[in-house]
Amino acid sequence: MSTIFSKIIAREIPAEIVYQDDRVTAFKDIHPLAPVHILIVPNKEIATVDDVTPDDEQTLGHMFTVAKEVARQMGVADSGYRLLINCKGDAGQEVFHLHMHLLGGRRLGPMLARQE
Ligand code: AMP
Repeated sequence: MSTIFSKIIAREIPAEIVYQDDRVTAFKDIHPLAPVHILIVPNKEIATVDDVTPDDEQTLGHMFTVAKEVARQMGVADSGYRLLINCKGDAGQEVFHLHMHLLGGRRLGPMLARQE
């Protein structure tokens, strides 16, 4: 099932695309949680990490190379950043097109809030 991210990849709806090649697209998150908040997505429609197959390994590996380049482009390569992928309900995945969040530009705090 297509999501809004396929339309961004196809440039059918506007987004601030910061990187694109034949396998991966990276664009600014519309509701940033940090000064730098980029989404890195495979151009192929993969709904969740749970839907990944061995055929996707090259593309998924490429996402890390792109993340590294985009982090440098956005000025957070040296200060540091967080890469995060949500999978399904308990992780709070909202858009069912696999995507890696790249967050940086401030101290991000603990990876996960402790449960009270
Ligand atoms: P997740 O909760 O991991 O599925 O994250 C989905 C992310 O997509 C959220 O951070 C949203 O702010 C972001 N998002 C949703 N629609 C758009 C859009 N049209 N352009 C950019 N980012 C979006």
